[in-house]
Amino acid sequence: MKQTFHLPAETTLKPKDRVAYINARLIDPESGLDEKGVLVTEGEKILEFGAKVKAPTGAEIVDCKGHVLCPGLIDIQVHFREPGQEHKETLHTGSKSAVAGGITLVVCQPNTKPVLDSVQVLEFLKARAKETSYCHIRAYAAISQGMKGEQLSDMVQLKNTGIVVGFTDDGLPVMNSLLMRRAFEYARELDLPIAQHAEDLVLSNKGCINEGAVSTKLGVPGIPNVSESVCVARDLQLLEAFGGQYHVLHVSTKEVVELIRAARKKGLNVTGEASPHHFTLTDKAVLEHGTNAKMNPPLRSEADRLALIEGLQDGTITAIATDHAPHDPESKNQPLASATFGIVGVEFMLPLSLALFHQKKLSLRDVLAKMTYQAADIIKEKTGRLKKGARADLTLIDLNSSWTIKNSNLHSKSKNSPFDGTSTKGRAIRTVVSGKTVYTYT
Ligand SMILES: [Zn+2]
Repeated sequence: MKQTFHLPAETTLKPKDRVAYINARLIDPESGLDEKGVLVTEGEKILEFGAKVKAPTGAEIVDCKGHVLCPGLIDIQVHFREPGQEHKETLHTGSKSAVAGGITLVVCQPNTKPVLDSVQVLEFLKARAKETSYCHIRAYAAISQGMKGEQLSDMVQLKNTGIVVGFTDDGLPVMNSLLMRRAFEYARELDLPIAQHAEDLVLSNKGCINEGAVSTKLGVPGIPNVSESVCVARDLQLLEAFGGQYHVLHVSTKEVVELIRAARKKGLNVTGEASPHHFTLTDKAVLEHGTNAKMNPPLRSEADRLALIEGLQDGTITAIATDHAPHDPESKNQPLASATFGIVGVEFMLPLSLALFHQKKLSLRDVLAKMTYQAADIIKEKTGRLKKGARADLTLIDLNSSWTIKNSNLHSKSKNSPFDGTSTKGRAIRTVVSGKTVYTYT
């Protein structure tokens, strides 16, 4: 098997160049389209698609051999570590790993060094993305200056950089309720979401894994479920009182699934995302994988894992996102209590999510919806759909390709993951960003 990569900045696609993707199983999760047909791109846009569409003469032909061609996958939670921790990841290596996983757009989190809290650093990120990234890069800017939880950042100016799709202090929660109120009020005027890393740091009390049988067995401090849910409960009260849009990052507990479900029933503008590791593994994985199974929020109990899947099934959880958090060996080769939180994830978001389809827990349409238009809707991006005239971000998926995740083969600069040796089914075999093929697996 051979993998090839091409940076969009280095390809020479002309505005009138046409590519015809023939013999495709076209799936558009938003409209429900699922039919055999042809999709034609012209330059960076989708020209037309459908069962009756023919490949135009002179077009470059890509034979999809019956595989699924769908809108490019979106991951609304990644840490690509640039600027400041380039020894762990860069936009270049992170996005390379992302496109190998079929992802065409990511949202970077602001806990870089320096923090994404100024126009200057966001302009830097934008310029670096243009030169070095394989996929589209967006960012959540910091809610508070320096992510210190004291003073609001200048949200208006930050939004005007054009790369900001929301605000969060992810890596850390916003503990200060007044600051959170102000954040809701400002972001409401800007029509952007406030995304929360939901955690009460006082309750977490320096815990390092889930509080439960495993933490007791290992004799390490645990993080209780309520550490997440008291934070979300407070935020929902603020949301109800002051309005705005609230997004809960990496939901890990059954209590938070229930809180979001009830709030959505009430009509509050709240969404939640689930990370593949949280709906795939429990804290038992820590026994086998040690610090490579340590992340925040932590892997929880089987009851929590099942509640997340139920939330995905009934539409309480509308997006899947990885929280891709690369770390160097020095940060991880430590006792459980002192090792850094986080695991990589972009390269296997798709197969771990497709497992829900293969296990008949979710339809294929629903699985893909959570990584395309429904994720895009949270961050107010128009992408994630097959539409005439839309930007040609596409993912070609072989649903049945079986492969085993090997940490050493990952394209990320860091290899910290508990999925080493895991057998999976389904993968991206071609990733197209703005009409340009950036990745193939043949
Ligand atoms: Zn987080």
